[in-house]
Amino acid sequence: MLIIGPPGSGKGTQAERISERLGVVAISTGDIFRAQVKGGTPLGLEARKYMDAGDFVPDSVTNEMVRSRLSEDDVENGFLLDGYPRTAGQVDYLDEVLAQGGQQLDVVLQLTADDDELVTRLLGRAKDTGRSDDNEAVIRHRLDLYHEQTEAVVAKYAERGTLTRVDGIGGIDEVTDRVLVAIDTAPVAGGR
Ligand code: ADP
Repeated sequence: MLIIGPPGSGKGTQAERISERLGVVAISTGDIFRAQVKGGTPLGLEARKYMDAGDFVPDSVTNEMVRSRLSEDDVENGFLLDGYPRTAGQVDYLDEVLAQGGQQLDVVLQLTADDDELVTRLLGRAKDTGRSDDNEAVIRHRLDLYHEQTEAVVAKYAERGTLTRVDGIGGIDEVTDRVLVAIDTAPVAGGR
């Protein structure tokens, strides 16, 4: 499955909880990039330039990283992608990777929240995490990119009939409950 949502929507938090509950591995492209930055790897050095500015890492880099991650053994029982795909090009690429592996998406979940709430949450989080991309100018830019590019991704899955929307406003447990209900009742591609 996929979990898609604007920065600050809580997708990482919910992805971890879904992963525990369903026993499928959660793969966050943002977390992988941050680990690479921390490790000072060539991929990390490349990604950092974009991340600090709140820009997307180029598809050529991100797609290859995801393809490699999806070839590992722990995805055999299913996986939850958090933060990928977020461009139309990434959707096409993922389609190919899944087709080659004979896999399909069961659930595409969009977590929603309005921009004012997101900015408030992210500025609050900045104090705790010290993430270099959690300052107001960069946050606004990440939100703009979500609206400009990732909403088109959401629209693609909506057209395919695989999209389920969940209201991300509320307590963490409350949202998890909504997410689990949504997964249970989600339209499965190809029918159940
Ligand atoms: P957020 O959703 O709050 O922006 P993430 O942790 O998901 O946080 O991503 C952090 C940063 O990592 C993004 O701003 C971007 O630079 C990079 N990144 C993560 N996923 C992708 C992706 N699918 N495509 C391009 N860049 C990505």
